[in-house]
Amino acid sequence: MTRYDLHSHSTCSDGVLTPSALVQRAAERGVQVLALTDHDEIAGLNEAQAAARESGITLVSGTEVSVTWQGDTIHVVGLRIDGANPDLDAGLAAVRSGRDRRARRIGDALAAAGIPEAFEGALAYVTSERLVSRTHFARFLVEAGHARDISDAFRRYLGSGKPGYVPHAWASLQEAVGWIRAAGGQAVIAHPGRYKLAEASMRELLGEFRDRGGDALEVVSPSHTPRQYAEYARLARAFGLTCSCGTDFHGPGESRFDFGELPELPKGTEPVWRAW
Ligand code: AMP
Ligand code: MN
Ligand code: MN
Ligand code: MN
Repeated sequence: MTRYDLHSHSTCSDGVLTPSALVQRAAERGVQVLALTDHDEIAGLNEAQAAARESGITLVSGTEVSVTWQGDTIHVVGLRIDGANPDLDAGLAAVRSGRDRRARRIGDALAAAGIPEAFEGALAYVTSERLVSRTHFARFLVEAGHARDISDAFRRYLGSGKPGYVPHAWASLQEAVGWIRAAGGQAVIAHPGRYKLAEASMRELLGEFRDRGGDALEVVSPSHTPRQYAEYARLARAFGLTCSCGTDFHGPGESRFDFGELPELPKGTEPVWRAW
């Protein structure tokens, strides 16, 4: 069995390893096909491709696009994209452009909640001047003693409806799928179990996604229980989507699954890599 891991982050977004170190860790831990999928960003792909040639593994060029769909944030992974495509590049730059202003507002909101200088604190964790994310705030909140760990920081301060939460308009679903397809890639709905969507809304999302040219659903993810692997595999089949899997790795000790620890897709599913 080839071991695929089609979702990971480097220092070009909110991961803690450089693209080269990420590829090296994945290779050492038995991953054979790795996708680098930085949030709204493709700047790490060249370095990752070079590292993959060194390590003898296959690097899939990817990204994870932030989308606002009916008021909720949804993540759409693009796989096997052409990183030189101008439509994708311009689209991702536009999505990134609102992040700095949003980060200042998150800092203001946290100050109002009694945590001063969180913006400056988060900046100390930023590893690419092109991208600041809530994860950088979470790392600051943990270090400053306001949260036990990253997920506690989201639970208490950064998650939807919490004191440091600032609503934001990302790309539309149509734009995200359009950019990924323009760049020759396949579009995947990431970690569906993370969205607080009622079943009817989830079905509406998947139907619209498929009709716009979407390809796959991420079935095996640290955000899911084994019961959800089966549930999302069924939903994928019902909507004519293939299935993907990934650790959503951000750094050692930060993710439930490290590289090489991801369970296989449920038996009988059509993998997104079927036609690769
Ligand atoms: P942003 O794109 O700036 O809104 O940040 C989203 C990122 O925050 C995600 O990609 C995750 O890395 C992280 N994140 C969101 N929710 C949680 C959570 N509940 N626990 C841990 N990390 C989270
Ligand atoms: Mn992230
Ligand atoms: Mn995500
Ligand atoms: Mn991710």
